[in-house]
Amino acid sequence: MDYYHTPSTVDEALTIAGKLSGNYTFFAGGTDIQNYRKQQLDTNEYVIDLSEIEELDSITIVDGALHLGAMTTLDKIVSSDEIQNHYPIIAEAAKTVATPVLRKTATIGGNLLVTNRCTFYNQSQEWRDGVGSCLRDVGDICQVTGGKNDCYSRNVSDTATALIVLGAEITLMTPNGIIQKSLKDIYLPCGIKFHDLEERCILTQISVPIEPKKWWYKKLRLRKTLDFTSLTVAATIDTAGIARVCLNGVSMSPILIEKPLKELTLEGLISIARKNCKTVDNDLMPLKYRREMINVYLKEWWKSFR
Ligand SMILES: Cc1cc2nc3c(=O)[nH]c(=O)nc-3n(C[C@H](O)[C@H](O)[C@H](O)COP(=O)(O)OP(=O)(O)OC[C@H]3O[C@@H](n4cnc5c(N)ncnc54)[C@H](O)[C@@H]3O)c2cc1C
Ligand code: SF4
Repeated sequence: MDYYHTPSTVDEALTIAGKLSGNYTFFAGGTDIQNYRKQQLDTNEYVIDLSEIEELDSITIVDGALHLGAMTTLDKIVSSDEIQNHYPIIAEAAKTVATPVLRKTATIGGNLLVTNRCTFYNQSQEWRDGVGSCLRDVGDICQVTGGKNDCYSRNVSDTATALIVLGAEITLMTPNGIIQKSLKDIYLPCGIKFHDLEERCILTQISVPIEPKKWWYKKLRLRKTLDFTSLTVAATIDTAGIARVCLNGVSMSPILIEKPLKELTLEGLISIARKNCKTVDNDLMPLKYRREMINVYLKEWWKSFR
C-alpha cells in the first residue's frame, strides 16, 4: 500500500480511508498539519492528500447564498470580487491568516479544521521531552494549570470566527451519506477532542445564507503577519436586529454570543464573554493582557455601531 494518496474525487478519498483503519491523515494545503507531522504530534502512517479533488475548489453565489468549496484557497477568497463585495468580513478574516505565501496553499476547509494550539504542546519532541509531556500528548497533567482532567488548548481559526457570526452551514461527506450542520456545532469545548466530526468524513462545502447588515472583525497578534491569533473577535448585526459576537483564540472552541441587539448592554456582553471564555496562560501574549483585550475589543465593537 502506498503511503501517499492523491484521490481525484471525494468518494475515492473515502474509499481509500476505509482501507486504512484510521491510520491516515487528510491533507488539504498541509500548512497546518505538516508541522504536526514534523513535530511527531501526528504519527499516522498514511497521508490522503485532497488537493487534486477539483470539485471542492469553487466560489459560487446562488440566490444570494454563498457556497465555498472546502479546498478553495484563502488567497482566492481574499481576492474574490464577489466575496469582497457581498461578504467582506470573510475576505477580511482570510486576509489575517498566516502570510500571503501560505494563503496560496492554505484552504478554507483546513482553516476551519485547524488544530487547537498551546505553547506547551506545539513544540518539537525534544522540547516536550525536556519540559514534560501533558494530557494532550502522553503525560498525565496539564503543564499550564497543573490539573489532571482538562486540557485548554485554544481554537485559533480566524475564518471560523467570521463564518460563525454569518450563521454558516457546512456539508460533510461520510461513507454513510451527506451530513449538513451548523458550523458552530462542530466545535467542542474540550482541548483534546475539539471537533465533533464523524469518523472518516470530509468537509466539502461551506454555505453562508445571508449578507449581514453590519459587520466588525479584529485580530490581536504579536506581529501583523505570520502569528496565530491571541484573540479574534467578529460580529454582525442582521436585518432582524440580532447581534452575533464570536470570540476565538481564548478558549477551547469559538465562543458565540447571540442576542437581539436591544437586549444587549456592553457590561452584559463583557460579563458573558469573560464567563464563557476559559482562557489560560498558553499563548505568547500574557493571560492578563489577553483577558483585558477582550474588554477592549468588545468596547470598540460596541462604539463602532452606536
Ligand atoms: C507560520 C504559520 C502561520 C500560521 N498562521 C495562522 C493564522 O494566523 N491563523 C490560522 O487560523 N492558521 C494559521 N496557520 C495554520 C494554517 O496555515 C491555516 O490554518 C490554514 O488555513 C490551514 O489550511 P490547510 O489547507 O493548510 O490545512 P491542512 O494543514 O491541510 O489541514 C488542517 C486540518 O484539517 C483537516 N482537513 C483539512 N481539510 C479537510 C477536509 N476538507 N475534510 C476533512 N478534514 C480536513 C486536516 O486533516 C488537518 O487536521 C499558520 C501556519 C503557519 C505555518
Ligand atoms: S492546555 Fe495543558 S493539557 Fe492542553 S495542550 Fe496545553 S499543556 Fe497540554
